[in-house]
Amino acid sequence: MSQIDILNVGYRSTNYWVISARGGARSPRILVDLGWPGEMGQLRARLKQVGAPLEEIRYGLATHYHIDHAGLAQELKLAGVPLLVIDLQQSAIPLMKRWIKPQDRYVEITLHDNVVITCAESRALLARLGIAGEILHTPGHSDDSVSLLLDTGAAFTGDLTAPAFVSVEDPAVVAASWQLLRERGATTVYPGHGPVRPTP
Ligand SMILES: [Zn+2]
Repeated sequence: MSQIDILNVGYRSTNYWVISARGGARSPRILVDLGWPGEMGQLRARLKQVGAPLEEIRYGLATHYHIDHAGLAQELKLAGVPLLVIDLQQSAIPLMKRWIKPQDRYVEITLHDNVVITCAESRALLARLGIAGEILHTPGHSDDSVSLLLDTGAAFTGDLTAPAFVSVEDPAVVAASWQLLRERGATTVYPGHGPVRPTP
């Protein structure tokens, strides 16, 4: 199985993950979760700090369309990073701005110029970056939540609620998402917030 590099470029208590096949310099990379709005400078600085400059990011993927996960999506697009959207996420994109205040400096995400694929198409797209894995629909925290699962067992789950912390979520939906992840081989969770942990 190919070796994978995983870097955390998060800030303000949110994790943003850069994933690439380990192939030396200039490996194509994917960024999972896309920064707080108005903080492009911060994200750029973090990417540079870990040796993964913006120019090497081939796609940005938001696990779901909440501002701490997708806030910089449009600014990343304007800087040359295509936005990878799973078809089932499209309707959630325009809804995100309901929660945004003018002082957030959010740049609204346009819908006509994204790379839209289905979960079933994700393995082939990732393979073109040298990354063995797939994107799965893992609702629970929100209906538009997806996870990136690598064949190594690493699962980038965004805000998928841990079963022990379910409150307003539907526990059956949350449980089904975790079951899907386990069935497909997830062993280690790289969450949107907090430390890397074993899959519950
Ligand atoms: Zn969220």
